[in-house]
Amino acid sequence: MTDKVSFGYNKNNQLYNNEVLMFIDKAKIIVISGAGGDGMVSFRREKYVPRGGPSGGDGGKGGSVFIRATPELNTLMNFRRKRKFAAAKGENGGAKEMFGKSGDDIFIDVPLGTMVYDQSTNELLADITHDKQEVLIAKGGNGGRGNSHFATSAVRAPAYAEKGEPGEEKEIRLELKVLADVGLLGFPSVGKSSLIRKVSGARPEVAAYHFTTLTPSLGVVNLDEIRSFVMADIPGLIEGASEGTGLGYEFLRHVERSKVLIHVLDAAGSEGRDPYKDFHIINNELEIYSPALAAKKQIVAANKIDLIAESNILQELRRKIEAEGYQFFPICTLTGEGINPLLEAAWKILQETPAVEFAPTETTIIYESPKNEFIIEQDQGVFSIKGKRVEKLIAMTDFDNPVSLRRFERAWKFMGLDKLLKKEGIQEGDTVNLYGVEFSFSDKKGCSDIPGESEGKSC
Ligand code: GDP
Ligand code: MG
Repeated sequence: MTDKVSFGYNKNNQLYNNEVLMFIDKAKIIVISGAGGDGMVSFRREKYVPRGGPSGGDGGKGGSVFIRATPELNTLMNFRRKRKFAAAKGENGGAKEMFGKSGDDIFIDVPLGTMVYDQSTNELLADITHDKQEVLIAKGGNGGRGNSHFATSAVRAPAYAEKGEPGEEKEIRLELKVLADVGLLGFPSVGKSSLIRKVSGARPEVAAYHFTTLTPSLGVVNLDEIRSFVMADIPGLIEGASEGTGLGYEFLRHVERSKVLIHVLDAAGSEGRDPYKDFHIINNELEIYSPALAAKKQIVAANKIDLIAESNILQELRRKIEAEGYQFFPICTLTGEGINPLLEAAWKILQETPAVEFAPTETTIIYESPKNEFIIEQDQGVFSIKGKRVEKLIAMTDFDNPVSLRRFERAWKFMGLDKLLKKEGIQEGDTVNLYGVEFSFSDKKGCSDIPGESEGKSC
């Protein structure tokens, strides 16, 4: 055997130069945080007191949506079944200053290495790199305050309570650079490709990555509803061994992150091969070219058992392999016999092996609510103001209630929207539109068509 590494990948070099020996698993999901519950309007009822003080409780907080890292997941397969994740609304406040119950937060589990994007802005919201990492992705709305908060010396019995803050809804894109969890080792024609075909569900996204015969083909193995992992068939890993060429470094890089190798043998010794000898040839090569890979846990799949006439041939092979400390699984990729125990054993090792932490893509971004900015658009004398704060203010205001309207006015001033509108050239009498709520603009102090605001003033 020579130590020369020449493997003839050159014609495919473009694939390996870009370091993307992996495919990107993607999923789009909708996340919705819960709205806060509304505040309650109620009054104490006491004996002999016709109308007691305000006693309306606050609405509960809406549930938030978090993304959470778990080493138990290896793919985004789960999101094929469930795409919508909504946290519960907070309950409304009750009488006697009872707080509404908060909506429960929900946690969406994703594999390490997942990147979370806002689908509409393409902004990277989070880079999930370490175990148990949690990132807030949609914040639950605050509960509205009950009327007990709004009593003043002038207004002792306010018939007004805040509405709950709305939740957030957004479309999120998850992207995962998939690396092989399980690599397949073995001489040509032992049945590696057959195995991966047999165990990986038909999955078009994956199929698209079967570029060429020299490209590692990846398959997603679904053990059940939640347990899945990525298996890489690495054709050509040892293809050159008998001709004196060695392993390709590029392929080694592909499986370097994997946690377990399945060493596939042609147990029937078709084409005059000796599976036990082959096992050692390949492991010797591995030692030479990649001690790191050679140190990985290996389990043995003795394939083509359907071709074995005498059972003692298999028993003998098992005895020798097990004596060297390997788990041994007789399989047949044609019938599927023996494959489940093999996959379960691989899964067990995946679980026992510590999670690979991923280097963050950039600095990890923790999602914060969008900046408090206002977007003013003008169309024929109608000035529309958009922005999170305005949207919230509108949602939380009860326009049929004068007290609520006054609060709205105060918030309006506080946000400095008059100034902004004037900067945009608004004129007396132009229409302002806030998410469908319209009123006419007036710059004269205290003059506005908002009820309550102009009371007692001459315009
Ligand atoms: P690879 O080179 O390791 O990827 O091997 P392939 O999966 O391409 O298989 C090589 C040949 O062995 C093909 O003709 C397969 O049909 C055949 N083969 C694979 N598994 C079995 C098996 O369990 N039983 C039998 N009889 N043939 C098999
Ligand atoms: Mg093959």
